Amino acid sequence: MAKIQMKNAVAELDGDEMTRVLWEVIKNNLLIPFVNLKTEYYDLSINKRDETDDKITYDSAAAIRRLGVGVKCATITSNIARVKEYKLTHLTPSPNGIIRAELDGTVFRSPILVPNIHGNVSCWKKPIILGRHAYGDVYKNCEIRTQCAGKAELVFTGSDGKEIRKTIMDMKGPGIIQGIHNLDDSIENFAHCCFSYALDQHVPVWFGAKDTISKIYDGCFKEIFQTVFDTEYKDKFDKAGISYFYTLIDDAVARIMRSEGGMLWACKNYDGDVMSDMIASACGSLAMMTSVLVSPSGSYEYEASHGTVQKHYYRYLKGEKTSTNPVALIFAWTGALAKRGELDMTPELVTFAKKIEKATLAVIADGYMTGDIACIADPPAKKTLNAWDFINEIKIRIENM
Ligand code: NAP
Ligand code: MG
Repeated sequence: MAKIQMKNAVAELDGDEMTRVLWEVIKNNLLIPFVNLKTEYYDLSINKRDETDDKITYDSAAAIRRLGVGVKCATITSNIARVKEYKLTHLTPSPNGIIRAELDGTVFRSPILVPNIHGNVSCWKKPIILGRHAYGDVYKNCEIRTQCAGKAELVFTGSDGKEIRKTIMDMKGPGIIQGIHNLDDSIENFAHCCFSYALDQHVPVWFGAKDTISKIYDGCFKEIFQTVFDTEYKDKFDKAGISYFYTLIDDAVARIMRSEGGMLWACKNYDGDVMSDMIASACGSLAMMTSVLVSPSGSYEYEASHGTVQKHYYRYLKGEKTSTNPVALIFAWTGALAKRGELDMTPELVTFAKKIEKATLAVIADGYMTGDIACIADPPAKKTLNAWDFINEIKIRIENM
């Protein structure tokens, strides 16, 4: 069988520990035998980031912007323990944080569904893609704990010198005060990311906020979403046969819980934080979830949403072939290759990426899987495999498809 050719490269961001080990196994077994793999390689291992003072991370973000597509392995975010463990010279910031800020993107996460792995919400038949706004609100708040009665005020001093002042409360006794903010630009970018990714995935967009109570703050989110939709996406959505639906956040939650899924659910920062954990619990394992960072300028970074699976790595270093689930890593690669193929107009690459996904799901559906999902499979798993054997099963499927 002739190898599939790639026109352009994808930015490849290697990572740490168990996921780095599996990254190599996935490439060698599922990709390189079938595709003339073209990547621009960036080593984002903790030591390399330390050594380059994070320049490697900034370079990799620039490469994703330039090439339009990137694929990222899980990476260690350093803390004191890691500084000792890896003999680092300093604490480095989260590489995901750096890349997210550089690309100004939104992360979309979605469960990978397989018929014999049952989530906790039985009516969800199609994946729910959750898009979380990753800027501002309570995550950049300013808080005060007061010790006596007093007047709490909200003051804004404009660059034009004008002041806006409002009384929050004449507080009769000690209490708490919080100030939060967001920016029009950030909300607009978030709306663009959601609408363009929904077009890409061919799913409707749902957005919920609390504009009845927060008439200005949440009202502004509602208004910006509607304006962006009306001016730039309405016609495209009509043509694609998909819709945009705004409702109050509590109504959105109630409707999501009795829906069959299949929508992109745009969430404000806090709602997204809470609701993404709810969605994740419906896929059984952290490794049964896709994650993609979409930038408003149209670049895509595919990743696994779990970490480096540190505990498995220590067992691997002692010689154990761990039953670590490589599905999220595999889907990061297939997402990136399919997007590359779509942008380059090389349908054979798209087809191949879909084939790897089908093969992966078929192996699980036939009862062969890693331990994390074997314990929740129904009908029960036929065999629990280690990561290497599981990947090999997928390879055999691909060869016979
Ligand atoms: P983790 O790597 O996500 O693993 C936590 C636990 O979840 C594991 O011990 C394992 O449970 C289970 N698990 C996660 N992925 C799995 C998989 N693919 N297959 C089977 N089980 C899986 O989180 P962590 O151990 O808290 O963090 C390790 C490192 O990852 C940290 O240094 C953190 O900074 C980094 N991190 C990176 C990213 C990223 O780059 N995207 C995200 C989160 C964390 P059992 O041990 O019970 O089997
Ligand atoms: Mg959370």
